[in-house]
Amino acid sequence: MAHHKPYRAALSNSARRVYAGAVLLELLFPGRCLLCGGQLAFQARHGEPLCLDCRASLVPLAADRRCRVCSLPLISERDTCTRCRLREYEFDSNLSLFEYRGAVRELIYQYKFRNRLRLAGVLAEHFARALAEGYPGTVVVPAPANPQAVRRRGWDPVERVCRVLARQYGFAVCRALARRPGPAQKRLGYEARRSNLRGTIRVRRRPPDAVVLLDDVFTTGATASECARALKQAGASRVDALSLAIDLP
Ligand SMILES: [Zn+2]
Ligand SMILES: [Zn+2]
Repeated sequence: MAHHKPYRAALSNSARRVYAGAVLLELLFPGRCLLCGGQLAFQARHGEPLCLDCRASLVPLAADRRCRVCSLPLISERDTCTRCRLREYEFDSNLSLFEYRGAVRELIYQYKFRNRLRLAGVLAEHFARALAEGYPGTVVVPAPANPQAVRRRGWDPVERVCRVLARQYGFAVCRALARRPGPAQKRLGYEARRSNLRGTIRVRRRPPDAVVLLDDVFTTGATASECARALKQAGASRVDALSLAIDLP
């Protein structure tokens, strides 16, 4: 398909080698769990990236007692968490499936930073369930990656998950957004992130009326909010954010 051509062409040789190496490793050692390294049961070897223990350790956040805007677990507040009372987000809702800690944090680390590409399937499986249950019929828009990160890594983690969602589960994916290179977001607060991002998200294709914006980690909500703003300016009327994990403040 045409969508991975633009950045494939821009990859440096070292990124190309990293990518090829990751693919080769997974072909050579298919019998080990990609999270704990434990041997997989014989019948689970074909295509299954996780052992049963690791699979069981991925426990989704309970659906009740969560902020209805950002999905942060609530302690003593009702409906809306304290930070959402102070903040105006551009998205209509956010749902994060897990807390960004323990096995889920390790899963994301192994996937993004150790290039365990097959873990895309595990992420897609959780997203697919949430999409089918909560947003039937809506179109998925991947949160655009920082092009510098894609060049360094050799691949785009969110894009790869969206490819599985389209091919394996039949979800409609609209690659409506692109991102210009910008400074790193890590360790910045909400306001700093928002001004950092301003003008770096651009629309490359008109989005449909209602979309689910998909990302791996929800931290301050700044990225989701900027993406939602761009999507709405381009004609979307509803943007619901969906992420694998929320990094609690
Ligand atoms: Zn394991
Ligand atoms: Zn909230």
